[in-house]
Amino acid sequence: MPIGIYLHIPFCAAICNYCNFNRGLHDEGLRRRYVDALVADIRRQALPAVAADTIFFGGGTPSLLEPGEVGRILAACRESFALAGDTEITLEANPESASVEALQGFREAGINRLSFGVQSFHDAELRRLGRLHSSATARLAVARARAAGFNNLSLDLMMWLPGQSKADWLASVEALIEVAPDHASLYLLEIYPNAPLKDEMARAGWSVAPDDDAAEMYLEGLGRLDRAGYQQYEISNVARPAARRARHNLKYWQEGEWIGFGCGAHSTYGRERWRTLNSTVEYVDRIAAGADVRLDLRSLGPQERLEEALFMGLRLVDGLDLFAMRQRHDIDIWARYGQDLRPFAQAGLLVHEPGRRLALTRAGMLLANEVMSVFIGRTVR
Ligand code: SF4
Repeated sequence: MPIGIYLHIPFCAAICNYCNFNRGLHDEGLRRRYVDALVADIRRQALPAVAADTIFFGGGTPSLLEPGEVGRILAACRESFALAGDTEITLEANPESASVEALQGFREAGINRLSFGVQSFHDAELRRLGRLHSSATARLAVARARAAGFNNLSLDLMMWLPGQSKADWLASVEALIEVAPDHASLYLLEIYPNAPLKDEMARAGWSVAPDDDAAEMYLEGLGRLDRAGYQQYEISNVARPAARRARHNLKYWQEGEWIGFGCGAHSTYGRERWRTLNSTVEYVDRIAAGADVRLDLRSLGPQERLEEALFMGLRLVDGLDLFAMRQRHDIDIWARYGQDLRPFAQAGLLVHEPGRRLALTRAGMLLANEVMSVFIGRTVR
């Protein structure tokens, strides 16, 4: 299977109050040096005979790059890997940085898929999250992307926001359907322990909806997307048509391989895993000095590969291909875990087609962690 290439762009115009990603405030001088470093890093780790068919610019806010910088980075990827002619090339973008010129420039540079971090179509919710765009800016960004020729657009929405009612959430889902992206990701907001949003919630008296409401928000949101013709293919992801599934992310869920470049990027390739150091400045300096930026290089053992295949594969609506699991991992999943999994199947949370497939139902996706806990610490053969 061809590999994916992940490129981390760690700059943001402002820092959102819930964000736990590897990012920092945009600094033009540092960004220019970072792009030079990224290009040098890609060339240094070149594997020209290795086929790749997805590239993903993630962040941070990759749409803060200039189109010429995107073009240089893509040229380095083309020189360094055997890129397929139909490579999916995604750029994460924030609506407020999606000017007509930038979008046209990205398209000309080779980007063929945009993923907009919309998060909500309610201005009050966006303000609570510290986002710089409004719902009108988000709609405008989608219209501009279409006008620039993008026929593969994804929008992210976040659910379970502070002060968000079920009706608010469903209105955002309806607004998303109205702007008709080809793909959507619905994420649950997770508030990490020291997030500034936590203090703001306490000060302002905002709370999140009760757990039962969150379950209904998930199910009703997906129900509306079903009716609009979107097909769910992963716990948090839908596409219309199915061909617009995120090919890059499918590598994470289907035991694929990828190499990540840029600070904080992770890689899984050749049964090995490593990460790149987190600091942007250190990354730039070390690349300039010809030093290694990779950390924690280790081999993946059979147990770890099996666990990941189980946890990631069950996130997919298609679930686990039991025949392929036997071929790849030499294990009969149902023989090993069937006794513990049977109650979940009887409760309608899991579908088992003997010898073929094991998958969570939509109701099971709400309790995915409980179902998957069956596998924890029990995969040693
Ligand atoms: S734009 Fe995205 S990466 Fe940047 S601070 Fe906000 S959530 Fe984090």
